[in-house]
Amino acid sequence: MEAYVVHLLSDILEAERPVQPVLSYVYPDMADEELEEYENDPQYTFGYYCGLKQEQFPPTHLLNSLQLERICAAFSKMMFTWNLDTDIPDDVPLTKEYELLVSTLDIKTEISNNNLNTFELCSYDPPSCPLGEYCTCKEFLNDDALENIDDYMHGE
Ligand SMILES: [Zn+2]
Repeated sequence: MEAYVVHLLSDILEAERPVQPVLSYVYPDMADEELEEYENDPQYTFGYYCGLKQEQFPPTHLLNSLQLERICAAFSKMMFTWNLDTDIPDDVPLTKEYELLVSTLDIKTEISNNNLNTFELCSYDPPSCPLGEYCTCKEFLNDDALENIDDYMHGE
């Protein structure tokens, strides 16, 4: 499996965006073209852009934790070159993180030159949320939901 992992890591490296635009974080003078882009639903999956397919990624039980870690790190870095990020919480176990990252390949997305787009994997419905028990969405369903929002607003 190690030989395959090394091969996969080089494929991920090759999937990085060839020319990476500099993030400017400028919003007010967005070109009309750019605004139009956001009015339409995305046409293509992340996999379409980066060239990777879910089938290239072995099931987690075939990988040891160091291999999982290396693949997740390379994948996240590659994703960032496309100005993309996810809402995967930090405390998600590696196997889950791996599955979630790989699942983004089949999600349709815009590729922006100016903004960081986030794959929102959370469904805001705890029983079906792909982030499962690690997701913060379940916190918004119980009685102290308002308190959590209050903490969030006040930066606690
Ligand atoms: Zn959730």
